[in-house]
Amino acid sequence: MSTALRARVGALPAAQLAYRGAVAGRLAAERWALALRRPAAATAQGRILAYHSVGTPSWGVNDVRPRDFERHLQLAVDDGWAFATPAAVLAEPARKQLALTFDDGAASVLTHAAPVLRHHGVPATAFVVTGWADGGHPDGAADVLDWAGLAQLEAAGVTLASHSVTHPDFGRLGAGETQRELAGSRRRMEQVLGRPVDEFAIPFGQSRNWTAAAGRAAADAGYTTVYAQAVDTRPPGTVPRTFITRIDRPAVFRAALAGAFDGWEEWYLPAPDPAPQSR
Ligand SMILES: [Zn+2]
Repeated sequence: MSTALRARVGALPAAQLAYRGAVAGRLAAERWALALRRPAAATAQGRILAYHSVGTPSWGVNDVRPRDFERHLQLAVDDGWAFATPAAVLAEPARKQLALTFDDGAASVLTHAAPVLRHHGVPATAFVVTGWADGGHPDGAADVLDWAGLAQLEAAGVTLASHSVTHPDFGRLGAGETQRELAGSRRRMEQVLGRPVDEFAIPFGQSRNWTAAAGRAAADAGYTTVYAQAVDTRPPGTVPRTFITRIDRPAVFRAALAGAFDGWEEWYLPAPDPAPQSR
């Protein structure tokens, strides 16, 4: 679950637990139903996967167990997928190529995913929340990488790109905040990395989390590619990514690769109050 959502639900532990259970339960039911209902896609088509953490159980549905992650890679190989960068997938969409991306800069990506990726020579991209790398994660710094950790991730072969400064919902942001989140994260990353950063992944990444104005602001800030976390329902002008979740054991993962969830979006509890970033 996202930190912003957790903040919106309120401070009561009981409410948080109930929310977490409801999200996980409904998400599992929906994904299993879709996995069983929809036939596999007939034609090979490139796909970009959106992971978050790999071995951070407190991240709920966004977390994938390390052993499940390894199973995913094996399944993809068994099913004839070739691993590639997102750019290669986009350049030849008809090829059966699979790109891996990881949002939020979770420390477990360095500890659990990077060694596996490196061992198998699998490319990957990590989308970094620069304010969290600077120590500003609301839950503390333990679960996310700082810049030193991100440098290790890059040294392990993972490409770093931007995921905003504070992980806001761009669907609710004003023009000034939108510009600061986009340009500020790009500037901070380029300052640390010493190279251009042209790719951006939308926080939450669903159809309601982006606007046409945000798209124009992203282009103005210098981004050439903006990734969603949805496929058929993604905002116009964004690149599709397939969200991979904690419940994606082999059958569900295989269904995700075959396109069973392309019309699906992660379910959110309606927010009881305006989001903090819109105040
Ligand atoms: Zn994110």
